[in-house]
Amino acid sequence: MSTSKRIALFPGSFDPFTRGHEDIVLRGLQLFDEIIVAIGYNSQKSTRYFDINTMSDYIRQTFASYPNISVVTFSELTAEFARRNGARFLLRGLRNTTDFEYENSISQINKKLFEELESVFLITTPQLAWISSSIIREVHRYGGDVSEFLPYRLK
Ligand code: ADP
Repeated sequence: MSTSKRIALFPGSFDPFTRGHEDIVLRGLQLFDEIIVAIGYNSQKSTRYFDINTMSDYIRQTFASYPNISVVTFSELTAEFARRNGARFLLRGLRNTTDFEYENSISQINKKLFEELESVFLITTPQLAWISSSIIREVHRYGGDVSEFLPYRLK
């Protein structure tokens, strides 16, 4: 972990990646030199609705014009993955107090596992605050049009 570049990991399930996530990444670019969007698949949410490789392609497509944004998948401890990739920052979004409670405990654990890791939280943009992957899955499952909540076109 020798680099002086400010590299942030933006980990999540991204099932699917939404305009809310896109907003956090783009705003994060004001703070970091590089952002790695990391789709995790080792959590309790082991069964995905959207295929992980398809989702990686959609996210890559979304940020195709940004050479400093990369997209990867991972299935290990987030802190360990950050360390191995030279990322000293974890980027996360906060929508409400439920997010806060969860993020608070996760960030304490991550700091125990990798002391130099700083979690950085961006407060949601109000117009995007209600967008959640779970709501989008629900609407999509029943055939509703979700295109306006996603920064790419579903095939
Ligand atoms: P996880 O399964 O780790 O909670 P998600 O894919 O649900 O991952 O979310 C990844 C991150 O994006 C989390 O920090 C979450 O709070 C944040 N996030 C999700 N939706 C929004 C939104 N609409 N506005 C801001 N942040 C969001």
